[in-house]
Amino acid sequence: MKRVPFNAQNPNGPLEICLCTDCGAVLMLDDKQHRIRVAVPNVMGYHDSFPAPSYHAFWDETKGYAKPSDSRPVFGGLQPSFVWPANA
Ligand SMILES: [Zn+2]
Repeated sequence: MKRVPFNAQNPNGPLEICLCTDCGAVLMLDDKQHRIRVAVPNVMGYHDSFPAPSYHAFWDETKGYAKPSDSRPVFGGLQPSFVWPANA
């Protein structure tokens, strides 16, 4: 497995994308301290039957994308009530 920055413009940011070294498939997101594992259905090619996400995370206005307007909450990081686990 290979780890690359989640945001190429912010290589010192906390998240990394984990890729298969054989085929390049996106396996998961993880933080550099290995505290979380995140699946991203639209990045990972999950089927439409996968449960709908409840909010938009890591929205970054510097990318120039339109802000999501599907009525789900939009956050610059994870949802504010999320508490990062202690690093064991
Ligand atoms: Zn592979």
